[in-house]
Order: sequence, then structure tokens, then C-alpha cells
Amino acid sequence: MTVRYLVFLILFCFLNPTQVQSESWSEEKGKHFIVQYLDAEDYVWVRKVLRHAEDYYDKLAHQIGYARYQNFWTWDERVKIIIYPDKERFTNETGQPAWAVAGAARDNSSGQLRAIVTFKQEAGFLDGILPHEISHLVLRDFVGFEKTIPLWFNEGVAQLQEKGKKDMAHVIMRNMVRKKEHIPLHTLNTLSIAQEEDSFKVAIFYAESVSVVNYLIKTYGSSKFGQLCSYLRDGNSISQALRKTYSSTVKSLEALEERWTKYMVY
Ligand SMILES: [Zn+2]
Repeated sequence: MTVRYLVFLILFCFLNPTQVQSESWSEEKGKHFIVQYLDAEDYVWVRKVLRHAEDYYDKLAHQIGYARYQNFWTWDERVKIIIYPDKERFTNETGQPAWAVAGAARDNSSGQLRAIVTFKQEAGFLDGILPHEISHLVLRDFVGFEKTIPLWFNEGVAQLQEKGKKDMAHVIMRNMVRKKEHIPLHTLNTLSIAQEEDSFKVAIFYAESVSVVNYLIKTYGSSKFGQLCSYLRDGNSISQALRKTYSSTVKSLEALEERWTKYMVY
């Protein structure tokens, strides 16, 4: 994955609402998603998107411990995946910049992020962009749309289902930790990289985010991670949520950093 692609991911987390005229759109419905598309010839690809989306949903819900809390995204609340036939149509009708490859859109009635808008594309979509955006929506649904989630935590979870991402991040961060060049967690926790132009820093931010999130899940389990998310949902800061979830083991960001770095260089 290129750094350029990483930058896309940051930016399309914050796109504007999009209007979709429903009359001429076809629909394929799954348990949690509805895929809307314009071109009948895209049917086979659309079915593939729907299958992948449902699969990512199930895997992530278990991974972050949400599956045991509630059966969310019910029949009436299914998330829409809106697919334009090509990039030109997507760019023209959503008003997105020419480099954008997908966007998250709000539900007109609730104002919540309930749609992923994109166009038919191959490279990096099914195993990169799609799981990334779905994971953002699942985490938002879990923690609450109005709650503040630290960016690293949000982006860390969003990358869990991306193909090969955790493994690549592990190699990068093991090297950084060995050289003591990783980002201290208290700094990572306050970083906003939307305006960051240094692509190396952006790449490290993403790699470290998924590495730390994956460390928590691998070491302490999905159920505990679900508790951590529920403490964030209750309005706790990340430090408070860590302390309440992992008690004396990971009682602060500093303690988490100590354990994570030890694990990385082991
Ligand atoms: Zn993201």
C-alpha cells in the first residue's frame, strides 16, 4: 500500500453528505448493508461487494468485542453502499476532489454516518477501502456518534480488516521501536494528521495506530477490548477507559507503551 492511499483514507473520513436520487438505482440487500448501483452490468461486482461487506462486518464485530453487546444495524438501519458506475460520474455528482476514491455520507434524517459512497473500481477497494470504511462505521455505532474517539484509536480499528495491514505495520513498527523512533503514545493520542504533509509521519501514524490496537486485542482479548470501547461510550477518556478495563496491567497510556514496546522488540 502506498502512502498516497493512506492519505486518501484520512481525508475521506470527513466528506460531506451526498444526495442520491433513488428512482433509477437498483438495490441488492444483505443483512446489514444495501448496495445501490446504477449500471445493471455491475451486478456481479455488486454481489461481491455485498458478500465482502457482510463478512467484514461479522469479523470486525467479533474482533472488537461488539458482537456480544447487541445485534446492531437492524433491518431499518442497514448501511447503504452507493456505487457509481465510474469515477467521472462519482466525482461530478458528489463534488469530491478528483483524487478521492470513496466517501462516507450522512443519513439525511438522522444525520449519522450511514453510507459509503464510491464507484466501481478494482485495485485496493474490496480488501482495503471497503473494510476500512465499514470498520469506522461499526466502531462509531459501538461508541456513539457524538463521542470523541482518539484519531489513532479510530484509525487503528479501521485498519484491522485491511488485507496484510497488521503484518506490514508490525514489521515497520518493530523496526521503529528498536531504533526508539516510534511516536510516544501520549503524543500519538493528541495527533491530528489531517493537515500533515510529511507522508512518512502519516505512514508511521497509521502503522503505529493499528499495531497498538492489534496488540491490545491479541494480548487481552476481544471481550476486554469491547469493554474498553464501552467505557469510551460512557464518556471516559482513553486513559480512564484503559485503567477501568485492564486495571493494574495497563493503567495508563505510558503503561500501555511500556508493554507494547516490550512486546514489539521481543
Ligand atoms: Zn480512516
